[in-house]
Amino acid sequence: MNSLLEETKFILKKYGITANKSLGQNFLINQEIINEMIEKAQISESDLVIEIGPGLGTLTKELLEKAGKVIAIELDKRMLEILTDRFKLYKNFELINEDVLKVNLKELIKHEIIQNKEGNLPILNKVKIVANLPYYITTPIIMKLLEENLPIESITVMVQKEVADRLIEEPGGKNSGAITYAVYYYAIASEIVKVMPNSFIPEPSVESKIIKLDIRKGNIVEVEDEDLMFKIIKYAFMQRRKTFVNALEKSNIFKSKEHIVEMLKKLGINEKIRGEVLSLKDYANITNYVTKM
Ligand code: SAM
Repeated sequence: MNSLLEETKFILKKYGITANKSLGQNFLINQEIINEMIEKAQISESDLVIEIGPGLGTLTKELLEKAGKVIAIELDKRMLEILTDRFKLYKNFELINEDVLKVNLKELIKHEIIQNKEGNLPILNKVKIVANLPYYITTPIIMKLLEENLPIESITVMVQKEVADRLIEEPGGKNSGAITYAVYYYAIASEIVKVMPNSFIPEPSVESKIIKLDIRKGNIVEVEDEDLMFKIIKYAFMQRRKTFVNALEKSNIFKSKEHIVEMLKKLGINEKIRGEVLSLKDYANITNYVTKM
């Protein structure tokens, strides 16, 4: 018998709720997968863990046993009573009822790290993100976590398999998309485990993967204007079957098509190349060339 399945069904029944599909609610019921996720996230007493979308609190319960503090951010009001009932005895639990995309994570982290230096809780000196993400907003959440340059160590998340493959791909690889370059710029990505639909209730229609992004401590490429670089990458991938020159022609970033060709020549890049096979270093060089124009 799967006790986590029984427990999940019991909680849903007790509070009279059903999963809300439009909020990406697929609750984890596979203890082995949870154990693996917690182990690979390497959580200790000195960690502040931010969990996105705690739902019924299945992962949260395990996180609370290991972390110095857990801040859980949940949009669905119906979960608040459940989570508060379940974790009222834990002094290291805080719940925020908000859309994660609207939360000022930088301020939140700053406040916690400072506050806990003066309080009685163990001193928190590292911040880790752990989540079984709502799949409908995976990309904006990942981009927010990366682009806001938060003082975080790692992001350990469950995402849809196809998205995972894109996030852990090397730039220029067969699964790469614009987001691959962003992840590679900010983090070292690795796959932890593939997860089948029957590890959740209700079962999602897709397979999943847990991945970990370890945030880089230094820069992998030197680029003067990060925003511009990601804008160029986005243009190149919007029309990924075109050559880089044709895809960027109407971007307003370059004066003319001839100008792009001239730049590529100067940078030693073939003018017929497609953007999807350029490396991050190539994009950094292109960006620095444009910045100096
Ligand atoms: N952590 C639970 C688990 O593993 O069983 C639930 C994971 S479920 C895939 C995703 C959770 O994210 C749901 O609880 C959902 O309500 C919540 N959620 C959806 N959109 C959100 C948002 N914009 N901000 C915060 N939480 C959100």
